[in-house]
This record gives sequence, structure tokens and C-alpha cells, in this order.
Amino acid sequence: MSTLVTGGTGLVGSSISQGVKLSSGDGDLRDWNQTLELFDYHKPKKVIHCAGKVGGLGGNMNYKGEFYYDNIMMNTNVIEASRQVGVERLVCFLSTCVFPDDVEFPLTEKKVHLGEPHFSNYPYAYAKRMADVQIRAYREQYGIEYVTVIPTNIYGPHDNFNIETGHVLPSLIHKCYLADKNNTDFVIWGTGKPLREFIFSKDIAKLSEWALDNYTEDEPIIFSTSDAVPIKDVVDLIVEYMNFKGNVVWDKDKPDGQYRKPSSIEKLKSYLPDYEFTSVEDGLKETVEWFYENYEVLRK
Ligand code: NAP
Ligand code: GDP
Repeated sequence: MSTLVTGGTGLVGSSISQGVKLSSGDGDLRDWNQTLELFDYHKPKKVIHCAGKVGGLGGNMNYKGEFYYDNIMMNTNVIEASRQVGVERLVCFLSTCVFPDDVEFPLTEKKVHLGEPHFSNYPYAYAKRMADVQIRAYREQYGIEYVTVIPTNIYGPHDNFNIETGHVLPSLIHKCYLADKNNTDFVIWGTGKPLREFIFSKDIAKLSEWALDNYTEDEPIIFSTSDAVPIKDVVDLIVEYMNFKGNVVWDKDKPDGQYRKPSSIEKLKSYLPDYEFTSVEDGLKETVEWFYENYEVLRK
């Protein structure tokens, strides 16, 4: 059965091991006509929808309008075009940012819509929540088995290493590289105390391909290692793997964002009790190596 991977050039899409991989150059998924034309041309039976306007704390805080518009348009168009051309299975990405800020931990699949998301990323979060609503509505009206997945903080090769808009790990790798090259301080945002559940892109790709063929529930499924790592610890690992000998400086005027977002992996474990995640040490080492090898061409 033919598979289409939207966002096939990105962090997650480039690790998916099957299908035709699309980039924004193949068509702008914010545009309905271009989206339908693409889907009509490829006539896929399965879709892994990785395309999105994606960023870390800085991207989410400084480009709120774009994060809302681009994501709600892409998701709405991809899900509707899939329905119109007869796609049978679709995996759509949400994110742990979708969860309410003020909610009892751990985060579970039942808590997505219980309150306002964190102020730093509510446009992205609401756009993503609407993908969940759209898929639920389509399941009820059209009887299709499209599903949503909720990954935590993904990192790996092919990430966006832009210092202002990227997620914390790619931004820090790039900053550390520049600090070493220019003999300047390595400046980290915030206090280093917040906790994040980092997950390697290759694990997310494998889990998404598993979901494409095996997950059919109308509720999302959380993809996390459930291992909460302080920002301070990943800074230490980056300093070690990049052999940085200069000063590490904490800029406490920069935001910490959400302090923690512990998620439950009870559901994931009930399906895949023996899944072995890549450790953050191994994943970071591989990412740093890929960064050095691809510095001239990577997104930065
Ligand atoms: P990414 O690396 O930024 O890749 C985004 C992909 O979307 C690229 O292939 C890009 O194509 C494509 N794209 C962007 N705008 C487009 C447009 N207007 N039309 C068509 N294609 C467009 O993203 P990612 O990190 O792999 O994220 C994959 C999914 O996981 C997203 O839905 C994201 O929200 C979700 N997610 C990510 C994280 C994370 O930590 N990264 C965490 C939770 C959930 P070009 O290469 O041509 O620009
Ligand atoms: P989030 O997980 O959605 O909040 O997004 P990020 O991947 O951007 O992680 C943000 C966390 O990393 C916050 O606690 C930031 O204070 C911290 N952080 C430290 N330095 C940086 C940096 O250079 N860039 C980013 N994006 N976050 C940083």
C-alpha cells in the first residue's frame, strides 16, 4: 500500500523508513488547491503527516500568528484531502505543548482539552488541538480510522539548528559550536532547572510507523521515554561531546518556559511493553556527529 509522508525532509519525516517523502517544495500544504492536487496525484492509502510549523520556546513566543495559521491550515487541508482521495490510515502529530498548563500530572491522553495551554505556545497548541477535534469528528461522521500521536521533545539529525527558533537541544549544539569557534561564552537560557522528556527522532519514526499499522483508538497516544532530564544535564552532555572548554553562562533574563510536563506512558507500554528507547547519551552523540558532518547544509 502506498504511503505519503508530509514533511518528509524534516526531523521526523527524514527518519521514516517508507513512502514518498514530500517537502514544502512539492507543494504548500497551507494552500487547499495545492494540497488536493498533491494528494490526488499520489493517491496514497496511508499518510504520515509530519509537516508543520515547528519550533522551540523562542519560535513559539515570537511567531505566534504564523505558528497558529500555518499549522491549522496544513492540518485542516491534509486531513480533508486524505479523506477526499480515500486515504485509509493517517497518523497526525500533536505535541505535549497541547496540554493545559494548569492540570494534574501526569499528563494523559484524556487531558488534552481540559484547560488553557501555557501562554508561551497557546497558538501552536490550539492549532494542534483542532487536528484532534477534526480527526475525532471525521471518525464519527465518516467512520475513518485516522489517529493522533503526542510526542514529547524530539531531537536528532535533520533538526532545525536555528538559535532563535529551534528547540533546546539543536539550539544548544549550534550555540556551543559557535562559542567554541569564536572563543565566546556558551549562553544558556533560563535557570537550567526545567525538565524535559527528550526522545530521539528515530524512535519517534519507528513508533509512528507502528501506529500507522496498529493503533486505531480515537484518543491520542503519548510517545515518551517518561525520563525527565533537567536542562542543566543536557548542557553538561553537550559540553562533553563537543569538547567545549570555555565559559558556560546562564542568562536568567531568558524564559524557562514550562517547568515540567511529565507524561504518562501507560498506554504506550500496554501496546509495546518491551520497546527500547535510545538513551539521551547515544542520541545526543549521534546528533552532534551529524551536526559536524552537515554543518554547511543543515537548517540553521
Ligand atoms: P521539522 O523538522 O521542522 O520539519 C517540518 C517539515 O514540514 C519539513 O519537511 C518542511 O518542509 C515541512 N513544511 C513546513 N511548512 C510547510 C508547508 N507550508 N507546506 C508543506 N510542507 C511544509 O518538524 P519535525 O520536528 O519533524 O516535526 C514533525 C511533527 O512532529 C510536527 O507536526 C510537529 O509539530 C510534531 N512535533 C515535533 C516535536 C519536536 O520536538 N520537534 C515535538 C512534538 C511534536 P521543508 O523542509 O521543505 O521546509
Ligand atoms: P519546549 O520544550 O516546548 O519548552 O521547548 P524547547 O525545546 O525550546 O525547550 C525550552 C527549555 O529549554 C526552556 O526551559 C528553556 O529555558 C531551555 N533553554 C535553555 N537554553 C535554550 C536555548 O538556547 N534555546 C531554547 N529553545 N531553549 C533553551
